[in-house]
Parts: sequence; C-alpha cells; structure tokens
Amino acid sequence: MDQLPILDLSPAASTLTAPASDGAKGQYAFVSLGCPKNLVDSEKMLGTLAVDGYSLTSEPAGSDFVIVNTCGFIDSSRQESIETIEEMLELKRQGKTKGVIVAGCLPERIGPELRERLPEIDHIVGVFGRDEISKVADRLVGHINEQRDLFRPAPIRALDDRARLRITPQHFAYLKISEGCNRTCTFCSIPKMRGKHVTKPIEAVVEEARELAADGVKELILVAQDTTYYGMDLYGEVRLTDLLSELEKVEGIDWIRLMYLYPINFTDTLIDRIANSSKILPYLDMPLQHINSRVLKRMQRRINQEKTYELVEKLRERVPNLVLRTTFVVGFPGETDEQFEELREFVKATRFQRMGVFPYSLEPGTPAEKLDGHLPEEVKQQRVDTLMADQQEIAFEFGESLVGYELDVLIDEHVGDNVWMGRTFADAPEIDGAVYVQGEGLTVGEFTPVEIVGTQDYDLIGVADYDEDELAEE
Ligand code: SF4
Repeated sequence: MDQLPILDLSPAASTLTAPASDGAKGQYAFVSLGCPKNLVDSEKMLGTLAVDGYSLTSEPAGSDFVIVNTCGFIDSSRQESIETIEEMLELKRQGKTKGVIVAGCLPERIGPELRERLPEIDHIVGVFGRDEISKVADRLVGHINEQRDLFRPAPIRALDDRARLRITPQHFAYLKISEGCNRTCTFCSIPKMRGKHVTKPIEAVVEEARELAADGVKELILVAQDTTYYGMDLYGEVRLTDLLSELEKVEGIDWIRLMYLYPINFTDTLIDRIANSSKILPYLDMPLQHINSRVLKRMQRRINQEKTYELVEKLRERVPNLVLRTTFVVGFPGETDEQFEELREFVKATRFQRMGVFPYSLEPGTPAEKLDGHLPEEVKQQRVDTLMADQQEIAFEFGESLVGYELDVLIDEHVGDNVWMGRTFADAPEIDGAVYVQGEGLTVGEFTPVEIVGTQDYDLIGVADYDEDELAEE
C-alpha cells in the first residue's frame, strides 16, 4: 500500500520510510511489528522523534540506529520479534548501523531474558516508556551507556496519541480509544504487558479524530484491547455509544469501523446506534474464542453458549447487512473432540463472513498454563486447519453472493495499468480481503462505486462504475 513498508521483514512488519533531512540529530530506521494497537505506539514514537530532531530513513543499513517495536503476544509473535532483532543486530555487527533499540511488548513480557539472550541490544524500552523514546535515542547517539533499560508502570490515565507520524495510507487511521484490559481470560498475557484498562476521555478521542480528519483520514478504525468496556473505569459506566455519537459528528470522517468488541457489554443502545448510523459500518469484529460453555468457563470468558447465540442473533436481526468477524482459539487445554465439533457446528450455522483461528498458545504465567489436558501441537494445528477449511467455504460463498451488486469501494492503492486495490465496508485493512478494481483515473483515498463482477479466493473483482454521460462527453 502507499506509504507502507518498503522493506518487508515479515508479513506483519512495517519498515518506515521518510526522507532524511540535513542537520538532524541522527538518522534511524524503524520496524513496527504486531497489532494495530502497537502500530499506534509506533506512530507516536515516530512523531516524537521527528519533533525532537531525528530523521527517518528507509534503510536500516547506513542508519545511526534502528528501533524495533515488538510484539510479545504469543510464542510465534515473540519468535518473529526476536528474529527481527537478530537481523538488526547482525547489521550492527557488520558496522552497518550503530545501535539497536528494542521497544514494545516483548520487553514487558521477557525483559531480563531478552537482555541476557541478546546482550548486544543497546537500549530496551517498555510499552509505557514510549513517550521517552527521544531521551533513549539521545543516550544512544551520545554513547551514554547508563540506564540502558527504560520501563515505566502502566499509567492511570490514557496516553495522548495525537501528533503521530502515521504509517497507514493517508485516508485511514487506527484510533486507540483505551489501553489495557480488566478481563481475566485465562489464556491471555496482554494485561500483564499492557496493564489495567484506562479509557481515553471522549473529548480527547474526538480531538484526535478531528486531527486525523484534518490530515485526510476518511476511515477511522477504533481499536482497544476491549472496545465494549470503553468508559467503565473512567465514568463508572460503559460509554462507547456516547463516544460513537460524538465521532459521527467529526467532519470528513465517512467510515467508522469497530474492532475488538468483547461480547459482554454489547448494550441495546449500542446495537441501535450501529444499526441507525450512516457512518458506523455494519462490520463488527467480535472475538468469541469458543462456543462450548465448559471451554468458555475454563477460558474465563464470562459468557456462555446460550448468551453468545442470543447476541449473534440479535445483532444479525437488528443491524442490516451485518458483516461479522470473529476469532477462535482451538486446542485449549481439555478441549475434547466433541467440544471442537460443537465449535464447527456453530461456525457452519452462524456463517461468520470473516474469521480467524489460532491454535492455543501456552503462555507462561497465565492461569491456563496450570490447567490439565494440554493438547499436542499436531492436534491443535489439525483443528485450526479443519475449522479454516469449513470457514473458507463460507467466506467464498459470501464473496460470490456479492457478485452483481454495486458497492462503494475506498481505493487504497494503484496496483497496475488501470487496476486499483480497494476495500468495501466488509473489509478491514490487512486482515480481510480486497477488491481489485478495473477503472481509469481512479484516486487513492476516494470512494468509487464498483460493480462486483467476480471473485478470486478471498478477494473480489470489480469494475468501476462510470457515469456514462460523462464518458460520452470526453
Ligand atoms: S479480553 Fe481477554 S483476550 Fe482480550 S485482551 Fe483482555 S484478557 Fe486478553
């Protein structure tokens, strides 16, 4: 995509590009890994470093230093983070960069181990040391070798994410509405890394949305660890509906997309707000993790099968054209063949248009570590493959069902001669499919009516719908 990575270290990695400027304190490269919430932190660090006189370069080789903003969520993401750090340390050994700073979730998760395992890392910065990144960079370029680790406790107020230097294309942005999580899902290590839930006040989110809109953003993607919990810690009640009402008023914003909606606190007023809005997309990302009540209980999800079915039914009934995305964890300790079959039945019956499946990852220090019935990796992987195969059929049929319709497509990128890539309301960036649009003179960042004429796996093929009178005049 425009402005996205020029050096792909992995599918999830973004290495940022920007022209180097003369007279800067130093030139650095940046690799951002992990989820959109981490991406917002990356963008904030980039903004801070720009203000403080550092210039960004596209190439780690030749830079003064490299920052790797890591992910520590599950074993595979930690592995990816470590491999990326090792790559950067290799550049340092070869004299191609002078230093490596490691930031983000991995240091929070395994700080001392990281220092021991990779002692050549120059500086380590925890998640909440993010706003002091320039201080760390100053120490590095000034060869001050004290205080090489910077950790700050999770703040009691949400950090300010304004004045970011964004990596996403100009027309869409992630907007973090809160940080941390108060849930106690037994498989999850996120609260250990990101702390308790802190809500960003409504006025602050709206101000940030205005700043983003002024910068050309048309699609806001609301992210948090637990979006439906928004407001509880700050106002004593959930306030997502109020926040959305305010965000809808922000001029220039056409699409508001909701991610990470925990199925509890999905109030009727929230559903009505979504159903009656012209800006909040009928696309909801609601991680359910499982459907069997016993597994849900062992996961400590605080919702059972019956309530989950009720909620899904209510959403489908009330929100016209709803596209539902969810994620599941399979192979949770003690998950029996029957419980897995129940999940398959649920997936087939509910027909989520979008779905992700993860094999249970044993996270040291989480309550699930101590549960009995841990399953072999092959069983977990087999269950992932089976569920994904079930889902593929459903997702492909959903794509086919759109053929013949005209849909508004937000153009993300020009990908070839008269070919453009964009997304409908049903596609979140990076995780869902895309629409390949044949058309002339389309503009990145603009909405275009597109007739869907076919599908290609998870993607759609479309033709831009021209105004025939206009074309005749040309
Ligand atoms: S809701 Fe559960 S899975 Fe999600 S971040 Fe919080 S503890 Fe982790």
